[in-house]
Amino acid sequence: MKQDTLCVQGGWQPKNGEPRVLPIYQSTTFKYESSDAMARLFDLKDTGYFYTRLQNPTNDCVASKIAALEGGVAGVLTSSGQAASFYSVFNICEAGDHFVASSSIYGGTFNLFAVTMKKLGIDVTFIDQDASEAAISKAFRPNTKAFFGETVANPAGSVLDIAKCARIAHKHGVPLIVDNTFATPVLCRPIDFGADIVIHSTTKYMDGHATQVGGAIVDSGNFDWEKHHDKFRGLTEPDASYHGITYTKQFGKGAYITKCVAQLMRDFGSIPGPMNCFLLNLGLETLHLRMPRHCQNALKAAKFLQKQKKVAWVHYAGLPGNRYHALAQKQFKGGLPCGVLTFGIKGGREASIQFMDSLKMIAIVTHVADCRSCVLHPASHTHRQLTDEQLRAAGIPPDLIRFSVGIEDPADILDDLKQALAKVKA
Ligand SMILES: *Cc1c(COP(=O)(O)O)cnc(C)c1O
Repeated sequence: MKQDTLCVQGGWQPKNGEPRVLPIYQSTTFKYESSDAMARLFDLKDTGYFYTRLQNPTNDCVASKIAALEGGVAGVLTSSGQAASFYSVFNICEAGDHFVASSSIYGGTFNLFAVTMKKLGIDVTFIDQDASEAAISKAFRPNTKAFFGETVANPAGSVLDIAKCARIAHKHGVPLIVDNTFATPVLCRPIDFGADIVIHSTTKYMDGHATQVGGAIVDSGNFDWEKHHDKFRGLTEPDASYHGITYTKQFGKGAYITKCVAQLMRDFGSIPGPMNCFLLNLGLETLHLRMPRHCQNALKAAKFLQKQKKVAWVHYAGLPGNRYHALAQKQFKGGLPCGVLTFGIKGGREASIQFMDSLKMIAIVTHVADCRSCVLHPASHTHRQLTDEQLRAAGIPPDLIRFSVGIEDPADILDDLKQALAKVKA
């Protein structure tokens, strides 16, 4: 199946007489006729469902659709994007280990890595993703286990050079993990550029309608864990909590995802509800139609804003002249990264707030990558505890407005921007 067909028909493949639409297996448990049949499942000797914290048929169908869309071999869904970020690293890192991450990542991921995972004894070094290969390489240590970045950073909008980062990671014998939330596999498949693991907050474009919070992890199956046997002992040596199973030996290319489910899902339990997976699947069925429209509308809005006297600056990698424009042309289908752009109003923080309060159709919400246009002002909302100076240090100008351009008629979007700009005192 081609990408567009996978969006519509991937995952659930009904047999004769079965429901055409993915059924919601809203059941915590599954019935067996012999004690031994269930025991074999617990030992991972047979595959089958027994308890929804580990696996559920609705969830698995949606995970396999996302894995296919990303060009991976296996996938698992999580109850949030945060859980996906945590599991993706924790699956191969333990106390005493270290990993490298781009500093241009989602704020929630930054906190998880910089504060919470440090409390677990896992150290991180943040790097400037635009630096040279030699400069980034300096952050790697003998105990480094992964390199993490975001295809398009939320909210900064910077674009990760995935091929460059994959080269650096592989030179140091570790996998590259990429958060592909903003681009989605419709616009960019990080695995095609050398990424090993891809994660998502499915809350955003994949769901697309702001109905559920969720996450996904996909493994390319390309990273050779056995080649670095001593670095990844959790995968290459027997797991005492599973009767001495060795994931790489028993599951080959499925090792990473199987360990993630068998260990992390078992012990931490961040499983999404089957109903949420059903809603996510409805979103995925139109992802290939929505993404190009988000991008076209964002480019129109970016070009419009650029021409306005009251607008101080516009950042969108799809705009000619943007520092990431050439990379965007190479890495994204159609050359456009997503439907999210950032801009500032002349007059700083106060003027930006006045502009946002004057919007009518475009809503102020703590959300992004939704079919409905929306805005957020990090200085007043997600980062409101910071002073203007601290904001600038974090790469977030006090006037920055994050604009998530929806799939409405672009004329209505531009009209709303126009009338709100008119209300801003020059
Ligand atoms: C929102 C977001 C997350 C966190 O996902 P949740 O589903 O909110 O837990 C992670 N990465 C990116 C890029 C995001 O935009």
